[in-house]
Amino acid sequence: MQPQKVLVCGGAGYIGSHMVRALIKAGHQPVVFDNLSTGHIDSIGDVDFIRGDLLDIQVVRRVFGEYCFDAVMHFSAKSLVGESVVDPAIYYTNNVTGTANLLEAMRECGVLKLVFSSTAAVYGNPVTETIREDHPRAPVNPYGRSKLMVEHMLGDYAAAYDMRSVSLRYFNAAGADEAGDIGEAHNPETHLIPNVLLAALEKNEGLKVFGDDYPTADGTCVRDYIHVTDLCSAHLAALEYLTLHNGAHAFNLGNGNGFSVRQVLDAAMRVTGKEIPYAVEGRRAGDPAILVADAGRAKTELGWQPEYTDVEKIIETAWRWHQEQRY
Ligand code: UDP
Repeated sequence: MQPQKVLVCGGAGYIGSHMVRALIKAGHQPVVFDNLSTGHIDSIGDVDFIRGDLLDIQVVRRVFGEYCFDAVMHFSAKSLVGESVVDPAIYYTNNVTGTANLLEAMRECGVLKLVFSSTAAVYGNPVTETIREDHPRAPVNPYGRSKLMVEHMLGDYAAAYDMRSVSLRYFNAAGADEAGDIGEAHNPETHLIPNVLLAALEKNEGLKVFGDDYPTADGTCVRDYIHVTDLCSAHLAALEYLTLHNGAHAFNLGNGNGFSVRQVLDAAMRVTGKEIPYAVEGRRAGDPAILVADAGRAKTELGWQPEYTDVEKIIETAWRWHQEQRY
């Protein structure tokens, strides 16, 4: 594939910063656009960087006027299920209005290829054991609804304006670059694996397990953890896919194996060799009991194959990062 100039919205964030590295490694030219609300300037490296907000359409238009992009990868979003229940307004504003601005600026400049970070949260409570892309989309929280709204917009933009898009529905992103110098760092941290590892390092008050009365084998929620560099390889495949395919497409990204909160905790104790303190608390609002992907479509159509299929290996890479966390 020819080298592509790619605008990476949210390129200073956890997944976006890994993507910037993956793009460079693959010979592409990323340009980062980020408001640094949750991202880290230190994670970007030596690439063009514009500090700006998708809610400011004038700034977005200026960026598209300045560069000649082949495609856009869009990671900028609010992404915390619990927060979205408490404060849905910021989810609809950031995730829907922000993306609408981006799509408008793309359309005005004739940049018509987008890889969009969607989520398993668009499905809501599963009605099948593993979730395929044609599973009913009935999100149970505002975060999932905001992402589904964007997917609908992308369908309409494909039909009306020939905008090509791939929505990648991530299950639970986890892990860190093997080199150990970038990783997951949110403040406050809400995600399970970082919180387990911060508990191992005694940097929080111990893990809070949100609910042990779910209809699962051990009562805790089951999720499908997928390594961040595997997400990145799927984005590269999606970029290539867009050079050949019209329309709006969606693919699940997961390993197809579910791990409960307790299983993750046990795996982390094995990886770290530490006894990790935890306490069971009430359920967190908006959490479905089980989310496990059927990622068959990404494998057959994108030719994608995740490399990290073992949750312990995923936790190992995160542990390396957390021990030396640089930002
Ligand atoms: N979880 C937990 N304690 C934490 C963080 C998360 O018990 O400190 C649970 C959470 O309720 C969910 C699972 O771990 O069932 C994964 O949550 P996370 O926030 O990592 O990802 P999400 O599934 O919300 O995208």
